[in-house]
Amino acid sequence: MHIREIYVYATPLGAKTTYNMSNSTVETPVSTIVAVVDSDGLVGFGEACLASPQFQPAHNSGVRASLEILAPAILGHDPKHVTTINAAMNRALTGHTEGKAALDIACWDLAGKQLGVSVVDLLGGAQMDDVVTYHVVGISSADDAAATARRLQDEGVTRLQLKAGGRPIHEDIASIHAVADVLLPGTDLAVDTNRGWSTTEAVQVSQACSSITMSLEQSCATEAELAHVKSQIQHPIIVDENATDLGSVARMISSGLANGFGLKLTRLGGLTAMRAVRDLCMATRTPMSSDDAWGGDIVAAAGVSLGATLDPQFSRGAWLAHPYHDTHYDETNGPRIIDGFATLPAGGPGLGLVLETAQFGDPVAVYR
Ligand SMILES: [Mg+2]
Repeated sequence: MHIREIYVYATPLGAKTTYNMSNSTVETPVSTIVAVVDSDGLVGFGEACLASPQFQPAHNSGVRASLEILAPAILGHDPKHVTTINAAMNRALTGHTEGKAALDIACWDLAGKQLGVSVVDLLGGAQMDDVVTYHVVGISSADDAAATARRLQDEGVTRLQLKAGGRPIHEDIASIHAVADVLLPGTDLAVDTNRGWSTTEAVQVSQACSSITMSLEQSCATEAELAHVKSQIQHPIIVDENATDLGSVARMISSGLANGFGLKLTRLGGLTAMRAVRDLCMATRTPMSSDDAWGGDIVAAAGVSLGATLDPQFSRGAWLAHPYHDTHYDETNGPRIIDGFATLPAGGPGLGLVLETAQFGDPVAVYR
């Protein structure tokens, strides 16, 4: 049951409403979907979708270009051998974790289908039936941010991520205070700057919000800048964009820099890489999220599947893009958010989705 052929599809997933982060806006990302077919005709699906060219050092067209090298490198392999498959991809191409992630996720889905078990079970088993989700309050006026925070909490959301950065910091400080004023007991607040503040701004915001219980997520651009502000701020530091691999996560845990992580499947390279980071974070009692920056049901199912295997005490939850683009590849089994929790797909083995290659249109590339 080796990998016989790989199909690549391109599917637009445009934001249905304005989605603003510091220095970037999500417009119409084109998701890359891969269908990995084995010698018995079983199909595993993977996906990678970058939110915006400014957010990550990669590009959706680049994902598909990387597959020109990566896909031929894994033909003939057993999809259950994810370690050797990742080694083959790393030998063939340095970097380009997003294309590797798409193929890696497809191999986990296909392995589950070959074995008749879920990816959750392959990852070690669920520690929760559904996964708490966090939701974004985009960059907006203080009044609008507070109104969005109220609405989301009315919908059952208990974890809010307020975007900040890319504007005068007095506006960020006003939004933080406005949202903090409407927080219900038990709601967790993280202020995510997506690398947008200078070190001086991060310190000023932390001091101006000293009375507010919150985390500061990726306040500055680099790990060195975060280390610089660490001793000058009182709020916990969550690292997202600078957590690029197992080595960087290990370094920031052992140095005491990171109080937790926002982790993206495609930045790390897929479920195999994420599994290793998960084991490190859980062993060191370090909170982490399991999600991605954008994407459809496939990457969401992968993120929720891994998210369900976390120790609930150290889960920062999952983020799903579909409320922001309203697209489902599997209308029945695609992960849904109900009362702030994401459901696990229940459509059968693998990722639990029921998908057909034909629904994604004509492939943009075929490797066999
Ligand atoms: Mg983040």
